[in-house]
Amino acid sequence: MSLLITYKEVLENMYGITYMIDKEGCLIDYGERNWNSFAISNDGEILTKKDNVIGKNLYDFISDEETRESYRKMNGLLFNGIMENIHFYYRCDAPEFRRDMKMCITPIKKDGEVKYLIYQSILLKETMRPPMNIFKNQDAQRERTSNIVTICSYCKNIKIPKSYDDSKSYIWVTPEKYYQLGGRESILLSHGICPLCYENIVLKFLPADTL
Ligand SMILES: [Zn+2]
Repeated sequence: MSLLITYKEVLENMYGITYMIDKEGCLIDYGERNWNSFAISNDGEILTKKDNVIGKNLYDFISDEETRESYRKMNGLLFNGIMENIHFYYRCDAPEFRRDMKMCITPIKKDGEVKYLIYQSILLKETMRPPMNIFKNQDAQRERTSNIVTICSYCKNIKIPKSYDDSKSYIWVTPEKYYQLGGRESILLSHGICPLCYENIVLKFLPADTL
């Protein structure tokens, strides 16, 4: 009996949603059990097929350049050994659930060199609430509207005009506040990073000379 454990077995047994990428961002493998149950509960059945995951690029799953760039920078810091690990809090809501999550990114070293990164996404708290349909699958929304609203990829705050008189200044509000303010439900979400997450997640990890 071999005592060797494969990285597949490690990913499969770790807590949360886990996946491993190489330097190019290519998805090497993932913990299928938790990944699939999360995908199914988020209209993501397409991602339960292995071929749609393994060998694909992490960056291709990120819809906007700003967020893609933030992950590229964080991954770069880990692959280059500038950071030992990176973790941050974020939200991953579904219409009926507020989900508070934590992401941990851990470098896997071999012979002193970082070969892979393990992403581990942990659900900290899931709170049921009346549905917020802005978090519905975007394909369904696309048929109904062309009204685009920017949402923060990390905290899910929404960018709205500061006031009706001043449509050039914006503020970022929580999805809850967006609804309280009578924000439209039939919108298309475009992703970005709010100033607070930019400061707390992106800037926090980036040494000044890499900016
Ligand atoms: Zn944010």
